[in-house]
Amino acid sequence: MMYLEYQLVRSNRRKTVALQVKNAQVIVRAPDYVDVEYIDNLIRLKSAWLTKKLSQQQSSSNVPPQCLNNNFSCDKPLYIDGVAHNVVVCFGRQSVIHDKKEKLLRIFIALKYRQYETNSAIINEKVKSAIEQWFKVSMYDYLSHRIPMLSETTLLHAKSFKVRKYKARWGSCNNRGELSFNCLLKMLPLWVVDYVIVHELCHLKHMNHSTKFWQLVEQYNPQFKLAKAWLKQNQASLSWH
Ligand SMILES: [Zn+2]
Repeated sequence: MMYLEYQLVRSNRRKTVALQVKNAQVIVRAPDYVDVEYIDNLIRLKSAWLTKKLSQQQSSSNVPPQCLNNNFSCDKPLYIDGVAHNVVVCFGRQSVIHDKKEKLLRIFIALKYRQYETNSAIINEKVKSAIEQWFKVSMYDYLSHRIPMLSETTLLHAKSFKVRKYKARWGSCNNRGELSFNCLLKMLPLWVVDYVIVHELCHLKHMNHSTKFWQLVEQYNPQFKLAKAWLKQNQASLSWH
């Protein structure tokens, strides 16, 4: 499934496909004959690099987008790092700003959507995808420094990791040593995220849920039972739209 939005620029003169991240936006330049499926696939393959670039540019852009009018708040709180946040939607240059202190997630959606009702399906869809994209970028950012830290303690090193949206799992590990994490982990308290990371790292040694596996998890995450219980208790309420 595709998740990174991109702008496609076609050109007759091009012979190759080029990916670029500019102004926190993915731009694909491609010859006319290259089909969209090929491009989607390329985006998928390069998603780790692209999300990293996007996140760098989003955090380094120091010009705050202008909040024009039609501000509105979503009625349901959104959990970020285990803390309930309010979501405020504005129209302006597309971006997402996290105000930790105010417990606020400010979502800017493109001006052209200002014509729609704030509770219309199209606006809801835009807000939903902006949150999802932000979850992916910030989770990727967090994991790219947290996994190496936990690998150092556990001496378990994954070959790579990726962040996706999954419906029914928090993480996974395949037999090539590649880890996957659910972007919805962004909603969980960090101590629970740590458990999920350690759990997947331990699968690099034991590809099962044997006693030995759980002993290894406990060794590096002594409170794993609390985290498991937390997940069991909260899983159902962790929806955000
Ligand atoms: Zn497992």
